[in-house]
Amino acid sequence: MKKKPFIPVLACAVIFLGICGVFGFQYWNLDSRYQSLTAEAAQLKERNSSLNEQLEDNSAELEEKEDYIEGQKDYITELAGQIQELGKEETEEEQTEDWYSSHKYKDDPYPSLYADKDTAPVQTGQKYVYLTFDDGPSALTPKVLDLLDEYEAHATFFVVGKDKEEYAEYLPEIVTRGHTLALHSYSHDYNQIYRSVDAFLEDYEKIYDWVYEETDGYSPCLFRFPGGSNNGSSYVVHNIIKEMNRRGFTHYDWNVSSGDGSDLTTSENIIDNICSNVKYIENPVVLMHDGPGKYATLNALPTVLQKLSDAGYEFRSLDQYSEPVQYRQAE
Ligand SMILES: [Zn+2]
Repeated sequence: MKKKPFIPVLACAVIFLGICGVFGFQYWNLDSRYQSLTAEAAQLKERNSSLNEQLEDNSAELEEKEDYIEGQKDYITELAGQIQELGKEETEEEQTEDWYSSHKYKDDPYPSLYADKDTAPVQTGQKYVYLTFDDGPSALTPKVLDLLDEYEAHATFFVVGKDKEEYAEYLPEIVTRGHTLALHSYSHDYNQIYRSVDAFLEDYEKIYDWVYEETDGYSPCLFRFPGGSNNGSSYVVHNIIKEMNRRGFTHYDWNVSSGDGSDLTTSENIIDNICSNVKYIENPVVLMHDGPGKYATLNALPTVLQKLSDAGYEFRSLDQYSEPVQYRQAE
C-alpha cells in the first residue's frame, strides 16, 4: 500500500495559510495607514490654506504699520526743526538782553564795573601762514628781511649763535622790522645739546645771553629744537621740555617743510613743497632756512610770498599766544 504524504501536505498547507495570513494582515495594516495619511494630508492642506490667508492679512497689516512709522518719522523731523528754531531764538534773546534790562531795571546801578578786556577778534575767514627761518643770521638774512617787507609779511627767526658774530647786527633788525626773534641753539650740535638737560641749558644760556645783549634786552620766549622736538633721546628731550616750560620757554615745531634742509632741493621744489601743502593745514607753520648758502630758499621766497598772497594768506609771526605745533610735549 502506497503511503500517503499526509503530514508534509498538511504542513505545507499550514505554512501557506500562515503566509497568506501575514500578507493579509500587512495589507490591512497598510490600507488603514494609507487612510490615516490621506486624512492627515487633507488636514494639512486645510491648515496651509488658512495660514496663507493669515499671512496675507499680516502683510497688509505690516504695510499699514510701516506707513504709520514713516509718517511718525516725518513728524519727528518737523518737531526737531521746530525745537532747533526755538533754541536759536532763545540764544539770540540771551545775547541781546543784559541782566538789568531783563530784570526790569531802568539804569545799571554799577555803570563803571566792567573789566577792561579786548573783545575776541571777529572771525573774518582770514587765512594765516607762519613762515619760520632757522639757522640764521647769515649774509642772506637782510635780503630775506627786504623781501618780507615788500609783501608786508611777518615771520619768525630761530637763530643760532656759534660763528655768527659778524651777523649780530641783524638781530635787532629782525625785531625792529616787526618779526619775532626766537632761539634755536648756540652750537646746533646734536651730540652736545641732547646729552642731558644740563648740556642743553648750558648751550641755551649762551644763545639767550648773546641775543639779549645784541638787542639791548629783547627776551625771546619761543625756541625751536635743532632737528625738531622729536630729535634726541625721548627721555632727555622730555625732561628738557619740562625744564624749559618751567622757565617760561615754549618750543615750536612746524607742520609744513619747505625741504630746504637739503642742499639738493631746488627753488622749484621749495615753492612746490610749500604752496601745495599749506592748503591742507589750518594755521600752517612753514620750516625754511636763512643760514649760510641757502640761495635756493632766497630765490624761492618771492614766488612763495606772491602765490600765498594771491591765495589770500596773511603772513604772521609766531608769538607767545600762538598755538604751538609740537611733536613732543611735557605731558
Ligand atoms: Zn636748525
